[in-house]
Amino acid sequence: MHIPDRIFSKALKLKPLSADELMLLYRFAPTNELMFTANQLRQMYVRGKGVSWQIDRNVNITNVCISGCKFCSFHCKPHETQKSYTTTFDEYIDKIEELKKLDGNQLLLQGGLHPDYGLQFYVNLFSELKKYYPDIKLHALGPPEIAHIAQKEQKSFTEILEKLIEAGLDSLPGAGAEILCDRIRKQISPAKPDAQTWLDVMHEAHKLNLPTSATMVFGHIETLEERIEHLIKIRNLQYKKPRNAYGFLAFICWPVQLCGTKLGEQIGNKITTAEDYIRTVAISRIALTNIKNIQASWLTTGKNIAQIALHSGANDMGSIMIEENVVAATGTVNTLDADGIQQAICEAGFTPWRRNQKYQRE
Ligand code: SF4
Repeated sequence: MHIPDRIFSKALKLKPLSADELMLLYRFAPTNELMFTANQLRQMYVRGKGVSWQIDRNVNITNVCISGCKFCSFHCKPHETQKSYTTTFDEYIDKIEELKKLDGNQLLLQGGLHPDYGLQFYVNLFSELKKYYPDIKLHALGPPEIAHIAQKEQKSFTEILEKLIEAGLDSLPGAGAEILCDRIRKQISPAKPDAQTWLDVMHEAHKLNLPTSATMVFGHIETLEERIEHLIKIRNLQYKKPRNAYGFLAFICWPVQLCGTKLGEQIGNKITTAEDYIRTVAISRIALTNIKNIQASWLTTGKNIAQIALHSGANDMGSIMIEENVVAATGTVNTLDADGIQQAICEAGFTPWRRNQKYQRE
């Protein structure tokens, strides 16, 4: 099908494309044209050959979760005491010391929706970590956890976020977005907060000027239209952020990993093709006219496909992800150390530069 030139030129003028225009591109534009347009846009947001990367480490606060998302092999139920854990403070110390040896300065703290952990638990954890390591940045929790704590405490999202920021929360990952469409959420993660709740938590975080990121996990039961709906919701929310607030600093999408999950048993172990991933990165760059950084996800797709994503609108290679457990629980294991990630960026024809949590030079 012929794609009218006016759609490409509208995109290249940084004008937000409508859902219909994006669908036309997503369905029918040849992959090389999508990549070319996304790459042109990348050069408008982030000029030159630089590709950013970061050193941080994952720590899972707990694997106990009452949500039971069907695509998740990581969590266990509160009664599964043989499998369940909560990271102890001594373990945090060991993990932070390891991180410091690798010259890293950020913890990505994620876990499940633990039925017993309320605001005080997280306030104590963040304050203690900051007391011992004031320079370590805490990129922690996500909208589902914030909504869970707010419900447990009967407090507003703002009150919860304010207390967590006071205790040491430095930024909020875009975890738990999956696809921001309730038809999907009801089927794959029925106990998780709905799409509007995810957006509402993020909006409150933006009003408090807390840096955040946005994500999309795709390749399961969603339609292409629902992926576009997701991108437009993210874009619209970013337009609502207060002037000069950080808002969404980056967008990261990755294909779901279904091996060994309940959802995989139900719908089969669908594998997203490399082409689908690359087209999705490109369409994300084209759709998200107000988000500067687009990340290539080497963790789920592997180094080679992530390198192609750098030619399809992505300008960031993410982190070396020391101790990633959630994706690894599905059997997907890709690893890159600091030398490896920089080499991967160079091999793709770019120049690596190390960033901090706010996408600034270290
Ligand atoms: S994805 Fe997160 S919220 Fe869902 S079951 Fe796993 S740990 Fe719980």
